[in-house]
Amino acid sequence: MAPAAGPLSSRATAAVVGGGPAGLMAAEVLAASGAEVTVYERMPSLGRKLQLAGRGGLNLTHGEAPAALLDRYGPARSRLAPAIATFGQDDLRRWCAGLGQETFVGTSGRVFPTELRATGLLRAWLRRLDASGVRFALRTTWVGWDGPGRIRLRFADEQERVVAVDVAVLALGGASWPRVGSDGAWVEVVRAAGIAVSPLRPANCGFLVDWSPRFATRFAGTPLKNVALSAAGRQVRGEAVVTATGIEGGAVYALSAGLREAIDRDGAVTLQVDLQPDLDVGRLAARLARARPTDSLSTRLRRARLAPVAGGLLREATGNLPPTGPDALAAALKAVPVHLVGLQPLARAISTAGGIALAEVDDSFMLRARSGTFVAGEMLDWEAPTGGYLLQASFSTGVAAGAGASHWLAERHGVP
Ligand SMILES: Cc1cc2nc3c(=O)[nH]c(=O)nc-3n(C[C@H](O)[C@H](O)[C@H](O)COP(=O)(O)OP(=O)(O)OC[C@H]3O[C@@H](n4cnc5c(N)ncnc54)[C@H](O)[C@@H]3O)c2cc1C
Repeated sequence: MAPAAGPLSSRATAAVVGGGPAGLMAAEVLAASGAEVTVYERMPSLGRKLQLAGRGGLNLTHGEAPAALLDRYGPARSRLAPAIATFGQDDLRRWCAGLGQETFVGTSGRVFPTELRATGLLRAWLRRLDASGVRFALRTTWVGWDGPGRIRLRFADEQERVVAVDVAVLALGGASWPRVGSDGAWVEVVRAAGIAVSPLRPANCGFLVDWSPRFATRFAGTPLKNVALSAAGRQVRGEAVVTATGIEGGAVYALSAGLREAIDRDGAVTLQVDLQPDLDVGRLAARLARARPTDSLSTRLRRARLAPVAGGLLREATGNLPPTGPDALAAALKAVPVHLVGLQPLARAISTAGGIALAEVDDSFMLRARSGTFVAGEMLDWEAPTGGYLLQASFSTGVAAGAGASHWLAERHGVP
């Protein structure tokens, strides 16, 4: 756990706003330093996005070498590195074990709790926070500042009141899946205070494709299993899913930052889909050549162990005129162009790019423009692919902001 400051005078009060992984981590560190901590959360319960993340298997972090892990944060690498060095992959796993939740490394290097879901972890964590004296004010929304050391909150009774606090940590998340809490409404408030916020954009998101109505009706929801996707010089193997309006899924998410940039720049981008990445063109052509001359395209593809969606994609890409010779057909199946014309909405993305510019916070994650206000988690301007990197950075920055806040308090309220 983080090197918290302490001991503090019993009068030091800390407000943590946002009860997701980053905020709860900051609360834990602050409580350990002796501060009187209240977590303010706008939803009726805590950690809703963490619970949601757990539904598909809670990928807490990644087991790869620390330097490789840091590379996943791209331009934010150097700013996040100290926080991740202080509370890294092994610390996170030990912390889980301390809550009675052992973890394991999956085949892809991803780290999960053995129960896979977030429920047990969150329950044990909230029990421990409660036992350490952390108070929770639910249905309570931060609406802004009211001068130094004063925050404005809207309580469950819809009344707005100003609360005086010695230190505050904001961990309000991004703006994906707003129904679980983080809706990005804080952006305007923070900008109005003169703090730079990069626009919130979808990250790890799906993309829009102008499918023909026939293709969309037939294949929406169909997985593209074991494909290789390429764009902008990068190739990723994995799974994707056809949606009524486009394409999404793990392999698409992995390319999403580059695809988003290309669409922002050029208005559209072409994704190449290799529908049979285990075979080269020659071997696939040989397989396709075994068909009878009278076989339909669907039958030929089925015989070559390709799903019906492969034929559908090929027809979409060729204006319903797929090549017929085995060599040309094989080459086409290994590079089906899918024209991406936009991004699926932020509300449906796994995570959010953009946020409070990292230049706006100092090394302890305190806002330079707002002494005594610290920031953590996804509301900061960093992004990373799926694979546990999002939660790792949320937890690590939560620890760092909590430690920064407790040191800041110690300088002002420390017991001599
Ligand atoms: C479907 C899905 C699956 C995911 N799976 C994974 C995964 O397996 N691994 C992984 O690493 N990441 C995953 N993520 C991403 C991960 O859940 C987030 O990156 C992480 O929860 C961010 O933590 P946070 O504390 O910064 O923000 P959040 O978890 O969003 O918490 C912010 C909290 O602040 C509250 N809040 C917002 N505004 C206010 C306000 N004004 N006043 C009071 N409270 C406010 C919100 O209600 C919320 O509870 C997934 C995300 C989704 C959507």
